[in-house]
Amino acid sequence: MPSVFTHEFNTPVYKGKISFDTGLFINGQFVDGSDGTTIDVVNPTDGKVITSVSEGTPKDVDLAVDAAEKAFETTWGLNCPGNKRGLLLNKLAALMEEHTDELAALEALDNGKTFNIARHGDVSAAIDCIRYFAGWADKISGRVMETSEEKFTYTRHEPIGVVGQIIPWNFPLVMFAWKIGPALATGNTVVLKPSEITPLTAIRMCHLAQEAGFPPGVLNVVTGYGSTVGSAISSHMRIHKVAFTGSTLVGRKIMEAAAKSNLKNVTLELGGKSPNIIFDDADLEQAVHWAMLGVFFNQGQCCIAGSRIFVQEGIYDEFLKRFTEKSRSIKVGDPFTPDTFQGPQVSKIQYERVMGYIESGKKEGAKVHIGGERHGSDGYYIQPTIFLDTNPDMRIVKEEIFGPVSVVIKFKDEEDVVRQANDTVYGLAAAVFTKDVKRAIATAHKLKAGTVWVNCYGLANPNTPFGGYKQSGIGREMGEYALANYTEVKAVNVNLGLKMM
Ligand code: NAD
Repeated sequence: MPSVFTHEFNTPVYKGKISFDTGLFINGQFVDGSDGTTIDVVNPTDGKVITSVSEGTPKDVDLAVDAAEKAFETTWGLNCPGNKRGLLLNKLAALMEEHTDELAALEALDNGKTFNIARHGDVSAAIDCIRYFAGWADKISGRVMETSEEKFTYTRHEPIGVVGQIIPWNFPLVMFAWKIGPALATGNTVVLKPSEITPLTAIRMCHLAQEAGFPPGVLNVVTGYGSTVGSAISSHMRIHKVAFTGSTLVGRKIMEAAAKSNLKNVTLELGGKSPNIIFDDADLEQAVHWAMLGVFFNQGQCCIAGSRIFVQEGIYDEFLKRFTEKSRSIKVGDPFTPDTFQGPQVSKIQYERVMGYIESGKKEGAKVHIGGERHGSDGYYIQPTIFLDTNPDMRIVKEEIFGPVSVVIKFKDEEDVVRQANDTVYGLAAAVFTKDVKRAIATAHKLKAGTVWVNCYGLANPNTPFGGYKQSGIGREMGEYALANYTEVKAVNVNLGLKMM
């Protein structure tokens, strides 16, 4: 029997007891992993074990694929009308709404993000995403191409079948919703692996999916490590599509595994080193506000983090003064304290990785303007950090840090900043701050990035495509664009008259 997670919360922002089975969710049941082993889940505020969850194996992935295949052939896929799929997704969204506080508390406990941000940000974004794709479920349709009076072709957008999905730890619930929403709406069945570091909300979502009434096998979640469960998903011969969000390093492995197995379809949402460009004529107060959010939100653990802040000469000094004040005012602390903005990094490994980058910046000669040290003595907290006097070859300028660390760089003009901004292997996101619409649009068009924000940072909507240029990924998630990731187009050529002589 899978172990039960129980936690009593008695915090200023959330009080209550949460308790549920933590097994793998296969064929509508919570079960132990086939080896009976477990993975400890750690609280990043103090490094203590919160609970342990079942550790899946490649054999469990096989069992999940069996269940998903059966569901696809019987109760889901082309055997379930779109409106019914939409109804079930809407029921799931309604249950998530009912359990908003609980999901936010789990996310904060497991990941270290603040309860308030999880509640108003993550959980509501995940609900919006599920509702958005629920709306698409009965609107998936092909086209008709007339070729002559007696011949025509129509296309069908059919579900692919069993799809594999592998997600990271930085937005566990949001990533879960981004993955299952379009896959289930289009009629696929799912085998998903959450990050081994943050599995709790994915498991809780399986309970809600069970309660919503999804047929067994439609959604399967196998908790476990990337090298075993993740690799079994990406190389599985009966999984015909894999969607991955995570590091560029692992993204390469996923593609390799897909190529070496059955050439499965791959979408990748990977890392970034996004430029945030502030021109002399920007609304300075707004630019400072969004720049702070852009890089320090979610403890800096955002793939889109605007970690390279480029400021034009004329306002550089004033921007830096205000940005420093704003960054110094960030409240770092316990995720369940009402005014905390920044919690701990998600794990010891991530904490050490970020501190390693800070050390490399110091060693390579950059100037620590503020921060640069551990915050407090327990847990994985890091001071919001700003580096100055950098050069383009430094690791802190080139590599994704995934922590509360920014570099502020002075630039001359549009040409200079576009060159510097695009001088990266990544191309996930970028932002431009200026009151000049012409300059905003011209710069936005020159930036090699999948998303460009103008006079804001980090805003995302379910109807807006998201993904990267260059080594930031392949394909686009969200919006109507996401539907194509989960459908095969079949062209049916019909002849009503032409006879062979
Ligand atoms: P990660 O790549 O280490 O892990 C992501 C997932 O892949 C986890 O579930 C992990 O268990 C699994 N995995 C690890 N090795 C695997 C393997 N060999 N085969 C299959 N699966 C494997 O990334 P992370 O540390 O969890 O997340 C941080 C990274 O994710 C950052 O680089 C960040 O930029 C990126 N990210 C990108 C986006 C985006 O949309 N572009 C969003 C969030 C995070």
